[in-house]
Amino acid sequence: MSYVTRFAPSPTGPLHLGHAYSALTAWSRARDNDGVCLLRIEDIDQTRSRPEFERQIHDDLHWLGLDWPVPVMRQSDRFDAYRAALDRLAGLGLCYPCRCTRGDIRAVLSAPQEGARPPGPDGVIYPGTCRTREMSEATATDAIRLNIAAAMDHLGVAPKFTENGPIHHGPHELSVSAARGEIGDIVLARRDIGTSYHLAVVVDDAKQDVTEIVRGADLFTATFIHILLQDLLELPRTTYWHHDLIRDENGRRLAKRDDARAIAAYRENGMTPQQVRAMVGL
Ligand code: GLU
Repeated sequence: MSYVTRFAPSPTGPLHLGHAYSALTAWSRARDNDGVCLLRIEDIDQTRSRPEFERQIHDDLHWLGLDWPVPVMRQSDRFDAYRAALDRLAGLGLCYPCRCTRGDIRAVLSAPQEGARPPGPDGVIYPGTCRTREMSEATATDAIRLNIAAAMDHLGVAPKFTENGPIHHGPHELSVSAARGEIGDIVLARRDIGTSYHLAVVVDDAKQDVTEIVRGADLFTATFIHILLQDLLELPRTTYWHHDLIRDENGRRLAKRDDARAIAAYRENGMTPQQVRAMVGL
């Protein structure tokens, strides 16, 4: 099978140096493997996505010397596919509707009898308040969660993936205890958008025949969720390459709010693509 990877930014802010590094790494993996790197626009959050940021993504990546096949997949065109995947998981009896607000969850987690829990890939491990609710009780204002214990039971075997990148190189698998204790019942469909980052990327990577996912090491834990979803939905396994992160002088990971480090700002100041590559150590 030929090598396919993707760069999948959300058009919710300008691309910064960290994105440049991620994109250049993905395109160089594709080149080294005689494959292709796709661009995918992850705009499920329509309240935060903006057309001007999407245009800027195209401009900045072209300026860096990168090219990709067209048409470009946009997640806002794919809500039906995410709904079908959600229905399939619900049909397996692995989902439940959740009416908890963030405040409700915080209140339960800080109650003394709950003890301290480690933060999961989505911030906290959901305490399971709504776990006994049935999908037939779901209302338009509920989120939909995956019952992780039921999901692991359903599979019967631990989901596995191969990490090709330099940081966590080697085979990894998701144990039942890690699934319960470090991931928990993640949200598959947010109440406002009917899907989630996790569900959408898994469905789209399969649709686009992606063979290796190149992205930052900050998403290493999320990868365990994604391989679980791939196995539950009987989608092909992918391999992974998690790269290190570009940090500011205080060691903080760059974020979209760091406008000063936006690729556009460097362009406006007359920097060349080669200089930007050098800044991220390439
Ligand atoms: N849209 C995600 C982001 O902006 C992509 C993460 C991924 O590569 O799966 O970080």
